[in-house]
Amino acid sequence: EGKDSTTPRGQDKVLKGIKQLINTEKIRSNLHALTCQPHQAGTENNLRVAEFIRDEMISQGLENVHFNEYNVLLAYPNWTNPNTVEIFGEDGRTVYKTTGRSPAIVKDEQDDPTGEIQWFAYSANGVVEGDIVYLNEASVADIVHDKIWLVRHSGAFRGNIAATAVKKEAKGLLMYSDPVQVASFGTRENETYSSTDKMPPHAVQRGGVYIGMGDPRTPAFPAIGELYKERTEEDLYAEKAIPTIPILPLPYSDVQILFENMKGGDVIARFKGNLTTYRYGPGLINNQKLRMTVHARNEQRKIQNVLGFIRGSQEPEKYVIVSNHYDAWVYGALDPNSGTASLLEISRALKQYQKRTNWAPARSILFAHWDAEEYGLIGSTEFAEEYREQLMRRAVGIVNMDFMGGNQTIIAIANPTVVNTIRKAAANTEHPNEEERREGRTTLYDSWKHFYPSKTNRSSQPYTRLPAGGSDHMPFFNYLGIPVVFFVSNSLDAPPTYPLYHTIYETPFLVENILDPQFKMHKAIAEMLIDIALQFAESKILPYDLRELMDDVTYDYLAKIEARFEKYNGSGNIAKYLEPGLKQFLLLKKTVKKLTDFIYARNDKKLASLPFNSRVDINNRLIEFEKCFIDPFGAPGNPQSRHLLYYPSPENWYDGNAIAQVHDTITKIENSQNENDLEVHSKRLAKDIALVNMAFICAKHSLD
Ligand code: GLU
Ligand code: CA
Ligand code: ZN
Ligand code: ZN
Repeated sequence: EGKDSTTPRGQDKVLKGIKQLINTEKIRSNLHALTCQPHQAGTENNLRVAEFIRDEMISQGLENVHFNEYNVLLAYPNWTNPNTVEIFGEDGRTVYKTTGRSPAIVKDEQDDPTGEIQWFAYSANGVVEGDIVYLNEASVADIVHDKIWLVRHSGAFRGNIAATAVKKEAKGLLMYSDPVQVASFGTRENETYSSTDKMPPHAVQRGGVYIGMGDPRTPAFPAIGELYKERTEEDLYAEKAIPTIPILPLPYSDVQILFENMKGGDVIARFKGNLTTYRYGPGLINNQKLRMTVHARNEQRKIQNVLGFIRGSQEPEKYVIVSNHYDAWVYGALDPNSGTASLLEISRALKQYQKRTNWAPARSILFAHWDAEEYGLIGSTEFAEEYREQLMRRAVGIVNMDFMGGNQTIIAIANPTVVNTIRKAAANTEHPNEEERREGRTTLYDSWKHFYPSKTNRSSQPYTRLPAGGSDHMPFFNYLGIPVVFFVSNSLDAPPTYPLYHTIYETPFLVENILDPQFKMHKAIAEMLIDIALQFAESKILPYDLRELMDDVTYDYLAKIEARFEKYNGSGNIAKYLEPGLKQFLLLKKTVKKLTDFIYARNDKKLASLPFNSRVDINNRLIEFEKCFIDPFGAPGNPQSRHLLYYPSPENWYDGNAIAQVHDTITKIENSQNENDLEVHSKRLAKDIALVNMAFICAKHSLD
């Protein structure tokens, strides 16, 4: 008793004890068991994986281990008839045809030929013929309708590229990873997998091309059995909620051949990668044409999250969620089962420690293995929709992982209030990578800070990205206002993912021979996760740093909005329509200032020494504080978008934006000619800002 809020109850001894129980051999055997077959969501193979996870959790002694099931719309290719791209001549004869398969290279990939199929989930079915055009990263300015687009992956979510292509009326879409990003040593055999972790010539990044949260048919409703479903498959196409055009991934070896056959000039330097030829098109030389053949079908299938608990000893009704998805595009040895293998070992070690010492966490721990993450965060979102009320009142945080893509550094995403937990854990964790240690970067924190330095001069802390889409923490912060910590380990190749991302070559072979032969990085990540989870489960006062949030709000989020207003300085037509918003903005600033002063005046150290009941009371208020940022009605036309501070950028679902709705409305005012529209946006701006103000007023009340 009497320690301050930043020192969890007995954490150091407990943490050390649990860390010592982490057994890398167990992580290795978990990984093999989880990745011996391709296991996409909704398949028999994935059910086998779920059963393995469930049985392990039961044998570890976790409580209330069970499947949490939903009926959702998934998508599949034809597993025996590959998708292809053909070049055909004027006489109709095929000149070149892709195989549509990424061949097995080592034994680990030979078990099942379905793993070779190249496809994107939720692509439209069908055949299209036309002219190909190269658009680099498909920025919004690239408008070429009625053509087959060839686009290369950048750091953006592939769903955004697909949405742009649909919006600009492309006929079809081909996406590929250029060797400049994914084969940095070269493209020869000894320079790529299975000699290195770089992408070989016939590999592709699979993935979903749907942007959204959860089952596409049931936004804001849980997909329980036959419970009401808002949209039919036809509605989805009519609303363009899923792509209406065929979309395929292509290996760079095939793209090289396409470029060689394309018309048009050589491209600007920025559009080039490491292939030998690049052309804009449109179209192919010698009057050849391109044909894309995609076999795709959407199907309702059953999915199951696998859940299990360790019961808290003091506040059992409060819990921290620790999670990782388990469904994969193929074998999934990095994404996601490096995480699954570690998470299973984490729950085993915690339970083992409990059996030996009688220790129990103060709050409960929910171990969640999500299903169908890959299709659009489906398992986690359905769960968040079904348990909305309970989660909002009782979940103190979610610590989510997804993959180990490399062993150089970590990349992190967190709400500002809880980013302190990951900084502390990373600084506590020895770096397993010899090369990093030789550079003097002895902890994971050191590398993180080195490779991702702060973007502001207010702080010397490593850069942490704002919450956004891309993994299962999304529904928890965005829909429910539960603070998230998310991290992955990575190399510096092709961030935020890695060269073999979503390929057939994510195998145990890759992990054991190239990336982490002794499973040291897996162990380090497991140690970090335990550290963070214990901070949430054990701290007397929840580890929410309100000062960090308020500073970010004042010096970053509000400063950026203020700069938008200042540009017009009260004069001209735009200023007239900004005026009602500006008035609300000044009120918002006052509220924020008042709350900030109040928070800085609070003595957090004293809070931790309060008697148990008062502490629980304060913790409830902290949980409530976060919920004030949830607008129960959601954004106009998007009932799932409820967080008033964070939402993914419209250009890139992987990137978080702060108070984006206000920026969007200001942009609309700037770009509008029509007086009627201007009136509407002007009112909307005032309302958007007032909603944020209301959130901070509410936040203040939760501390009063
Ligand atoms: N992690 C998956 C991907 O990046 C799904 C992300 C999402 O739908 O938000 O493809
Ligand atoms: Ca749903
Ligand atoms: Zn994943
Ligand atoms: Zn993935």
